[in-house]
Parts: sequence; structure tokens; C-alpha cells
Amino acid sequence: MPVQIEKASELGFCFGVRRAIRIIEKAAGKQERITTLGPIVHNRLVVARLAEKGIRVVNGLDELQDETVAITSHGISPELSAQLQSRQLHIIDTTCPIVRSAQKAAKKLAQAGFGVVIFGEANHPEVKGLLGWAGDNAMATLDGEEMIHFNLSRRLGILSQTTQSRTQFAEFVDRVIGIVFPHVQELRVINTLCEETQKRQRAALELAEKSDLVIVVGGRNSANTQHLAEVCSPLVETHPIEAATEIDESWISGKRHIGITAGASTPDEAIQEVTLKLQSLADNA
Ligand code: SF4
Repeated sequence: MPVQIEKASELGFCFGVRRAIRIIEKAAGKQERITTLGPIVHNRLVVARLAEKGIRVVNGLDELQDETVAITSHGISPELSAQLQSRQLHIIDTTCPIVRSAQKAAKKLAQAGFGVVIFGEANHPEVKGLLGWAGDNAMATLDGEEMIHFNLSRRLGILSQTTQSRTQFAEFVDRVIGIVFPHVQELRVINTLCEETQKRQRAALELAEKSDLVIVVGGRNSANTQHLAEVCSPLVETHPIEAATEIDESWISGKRHIGITAGASTPDEAIQEVTLKLQSLADNA
């Protein structure tokens, strides 16, 4: 029986990433020298492609040399924004509109006097930005237990890094309620999850349920790619890879249904290369 290779019904570039790349490529087309503050998306292939167009990446303000700086789709804190503006740089803002909504939600909670807890990875650029919008009494954590270190106010707001999973966010909220009640009198939970990410996670789950191997294509530092692998791995043999060259022939042995999914920052070419390589290995198996 031939090996079936199936792509998830939703995979690869989301609208926020396509938008960010379109904005920056358009600016580069006007021959501006552009620097991005951190990688525009968490994918080495995309960053390399943009580098060929003269778009370079720096990791901090002190490395800035060019007059045009691009804010990535992950957004930045108001403090960093003010620092950029004070240097009178030309700013290209590619912050994803969904991240922007999360920033506004964080700001609104802080202004209303809520302490803010963000369900997310404290070192992720999106979360660092969100913390800036959430005011002085805010923290980011993936572990409800860390809440014991938080200076609890009577009003507490909870929101999520946009790319987290819905199930894990719900479990986190449940854990926090168990810890902070009865001290907290008012709890406000804002759904800041990105539907694009949720669609990819649901599609990956459906694929994992009918496959005997799933390949997850995407950057190792891409949070949403990691979550896709986490969704699939309890159900089926799962291998996260960045490029087709990482595929190990032994993975294919004895497999009948191979699924492919990809993170929101994975370009179409990378998915295509992986598909072709798997097809060729399956044909010769
Ligand atoms: S995954 Fe969602 S929040 Fe992140 S860039 Fe894409 S659309 Fe925006």
C-alpha cells in the first residue's frame, strides 16, 4: 500500500506574519536601509531571505546604526517605543493587530488598577512587550505556582501570550483561581489567544489522530511551532525540524500515513521542500 502524505488543513504563514513581511519588503523596495529589532519572525530561512534584500537584524538599541528601524510582529513595550522615538528614527511598525489588541487589553487592566498576570514565556519578545503595557504590578509565567511571589491586589486580570494553547490557558486560569481566592475580589480573564494559532493547533490534532508520524516544520525558537509539536507528540511519533535536510530516513520505515504541519512563521518553500523529500523517501521505501 502506498504511503499517504497529508498536510494539515491549516499550516504555515499566518496573516500577521505575511503582513509583517509584506510591509518590510515594500519598504526595502524603496531602497531604505532597514534594521529590525530582533528577527522579524522566528524563522532562520525568512531572516536569511530578508538579509539578501539588505534587511539586517540587531538585538538591542545600542547596535542600531541605520535610520530606519522595523518593529517586529511581536510588538514592543511603550518604554522601548519612547526610546526609539527619542532617537528620531524612522520607524516601521509591523506589530500584528492581534498582538496590538492584547497590548491594549493589558493597558486597560493596568489603568483600571488591576494587577496583571500573563500566561506566557517571560523571555519571549511578545511577552516582554505585553509586560511593558501591563504596568508596574505585572508578571509573566507558565506556572500558576509562581503566583505566590506576586504582590496580589484585590483586582486581578489574566491574559495570555497570543500563541499559547487554549486548553493550557484554561488550566492555568483554573490553577490561579485556586491560589488567589479568596484574597482577590475581582478576577477578569481576557481572551487574547490568536485564532490563527488555535486553527493550526486544531488541524495538527486532527492530523495526529489519523497519522503514524507527524513532521512539524518551523524555527526552533518559534513558540507556536513548539506548541504544534506539543499537541501532536502525546498521540503520535512527532519530529520538529527546521528544514528538509534534517529528515532521518529511518523515521519513514513502516509508516503508512505521514502528516505534515508547520508553524505560523514557516515559509511555504520550507513546507514544500519537506513534502517533496518525504514523498521521495516514501516512493523509494
Ligand atoms: S500567530 Fe497570530 S498573533 Fe502571531 S503574528 Fe500570526 S496572526 Fe499575529
